[in-house]
Amino acid sequence: MFRLVLLGPPGAGKGTQAVKIAEKYNIPHISTGDIFRKNVKEGTPLGKKAKEFMDSGALVPDELVVALVEDRLKAPDCQDGFLLDGFPRTIYQAEALDECLSKMGSKLDYVINLCVDEDELLDRMIGRRVCRQCGTPYHVTNMPPKVEGVCDSCGGEVYQRADDTEETVKNRFKVYQDQTSPLISYYEESGNILHIEGVGGPAAVFEAIVSAVGA
Ligand code: AMP
Repeated sequence: MFRLVLLGPPGAGKGTQAVKIAEKYNIPHISTGDIFRKNVKEGTPLGKKAKEFMDSGALVPDELVVALVEDRLKAPDCQDGFLLDGFPRTIYQAEALDECLSKMGSKLDYVINLCVDEDELLDRMIGRRVCRQCGTPYHVTNMPPKVEGVCDSCGGEVYQRADDTEETVKNRFKVYQDQTSPLISYYEESGNILHIEGVGGPAAVFEAIVSAVGA
């Protein structure tokens, strides 16, 4: 069992790899983006607060995200391991996570940093589609569903996220550069970061992750 964080710029393939990693190591997959999207869809108070930030590609305020993750990590299914996808995204969040885990008497085993260059990322994100129901990710040319617009896994509608349009994508990159990329040095200092080249197709990337994490 591992306590893992998946780090990387938007479009690096975090969602695709997260599903495989969680299955392989039998740990819950915690995607803060998925949790926010579900809340927006259901019109909850949290969803109402998060929506305007998400639509513009900005980050949801730290306090909201940290409270949500701390709560989730206390659940029984997280006691022996978990995979965080899309969290932390700021130094504040990373420090809050370290503190929360240390109070629980544990710590992260690895931070998996998916590295992909920026031109490739832009193309991936603008072509990205996702199942509205189960969150399975697709790409219009690299990984289309068997039937256009229909999810292979659950039959749900495959759509383009409102924040995957060109303008919002550019803003999300900037947000990543400014606020999230400093986490690479943060975790390099604690010595538990694994840099993985996020190119060559999902299966090859997954193999590289498994051989770096081990067992
Ligand atoms: P994602 O699916 O991970 O790309 O997240 C989609 C959007 O949800 C982001 O652009 C943010 O607006 C919000 N979000 C997800 N995770 C976080 C986080 N850890 N901190 C702040 N905002 C977040």
